[in-house]
Amino acid sequence: MEVEVEAPVSEPLVKPWDPTSWRKRPAHQQPKYPSAAEVEAVEQQLAGYPPLVFAEEARELRRQLAEVAEGKAFLLQGGDCAESFADFNANRIRDTFKVLLQMAVVLTFAGNLPVVKVARMAGQYAKPRSADMETVDGVELPSYRGDIINGIDFTAQARVPDPERMLTAYNQSAATLNLLRAFAQGGLADLHQVHAWNLSYLENNPQRDRYSQLAERLQDALEFMAVCGVNSSNTPAIRETTLYTSHEALLLNYEQALTRTDSLTGKWYDCSAHMLWIGERTRQLDAAHIEFLAGVWNPIGVKVGPGMDTDELIRLIDCLNPNNEPGRLTLITRMGADTLGDKLPALVRAVEREGRSVVWSTDPMHGNTEKASSGFKTRNFDNILREIRDFFAVHRAEGTHPGGIHLEMTGQHVTECTGGAWKISDADLASCYRTQCDPRLNADQVLELAFCISEMLRD
Ligand code: PEP
Ligand code: MN
Repeated sequence: MEVEVEAPVSEPLVKPWDPTSWRKRPAHQQPKYPSAAEVEAVEQQLAGYPPLVFAEEARELRRQLAEVAEGKAFLLQGGDCAESFADFNANRIRDTFKVLLQMAVVLTFAGNLPVVKVARMAGQYAKPRSADMETVDGVELPSYRGDIINGIDFTAQARVPDPERMLTAYNQSAATLNLLRAFAQGGLADLHQVHAWNLSYLENNPQRDRYSQLAERLQDALEFMAVCGVNSSNTPAIRETTLYTSHEALLLNYEQALTRTDSLTGKWYDCSAHMLWIGERTRQLDAAHIEFLAGVWNPIGVKVGPGMDTDELIRLIDCLNPNNEPGRLTLITRMGADTLGDKLPALVRAVEREGRSVVWSTDPMHGNTEKASSGFKTRNFDNILREIRDFFAVHRAEGTHPGGIHLEMTGQHVTECTGGAWKISDADLASCYRTQCDPRLNADQVLELAFCISEMLRD
């Protein structure tokens, strides 16, 4: 993938930009820490720690996203709604890694496009909330804001924001990233192993035959290469993969502390992850999150909900990608299955009319959250699929590229979203409802989605 991306970065709103410029703007969804001195001590400590990613890796991701923007690749981004400190173990990381890779194989092989893989992992610890306070049985406490900020237990003590949690988040991100890199480079991602990837519960999965057939076709292709004298066992493209990391850049104290100048280019990079995004609740044009991400050179994303209008979208693009660099900006639409068909065409047309290069990605999760009759927060597979289908239909009609998908998912066998081949019902949700925040698709459901999307990609 050879795309030149060497234009200057976005114009910051506050000039000259530095990693503290956001502090001059209103910062939404930030914790109210009890002690400013303690926060500063943690920030200083973090600022002395090694970066989690290397700027050149972020540049490589931007080049690959430029390919997506041009319609030559597809972006697969997924992982937990919120990672948790308690549920931090190798199996969880491995299972999500495997299922992301399985999806990528399905999309690449059946959909015929290279897939850029970006995990919502190794740093996805901060959560925006719709209310500052939460009331349970008449008791009111501050809302849980993600493990990097406070504790999920409904006690006054757990809900006090604790800056030391930023250090734990950093350490767990580092260990997660280390394992992901080992999996990606150390043989687990070898396409020759594709048969071995079947997680045990896939064995009875209704989708299993489709997956096995695909795996056999892939095996045939590898054998054919061997017969032709291509030794694919030594070919890095076959044996290894690259999985990038991403999270919502919500807690700006943390993001600032991990923002460093790149020794090669002298530019600022937020080295907490390869890609960062701005959430639906913090994308106000005059506010701190836009200000912060405007000044770093990483590829970035912005969530685009149903309330976005065309003028605001173009102004947002002006702030975040004024030089129109392909791969710099991913627009992650999250409209809801009932709304996307009405709202997306005008936004796509405005971006086309203005000649802006963006990656269009769909998050079919956040506009389709509902309360099940059993009381659980859930999302229904059919609504998720419908939003994806409509996303493809709009882009096909407008002649633009449906560039990617952004999912809340896990490799574990949870029951958090209803529907899918196993027909998870409202009553089934209780059997394995584990999420720290929003309901995630399980491994079976995402694999099923991958098959559906690969058909859409070919149409
Ligand atoms: C999220 O991605 O978990 C999230 C909070 O999304 P949004 O900002 O789109 O609501
Ligand atoms: Mn979420």
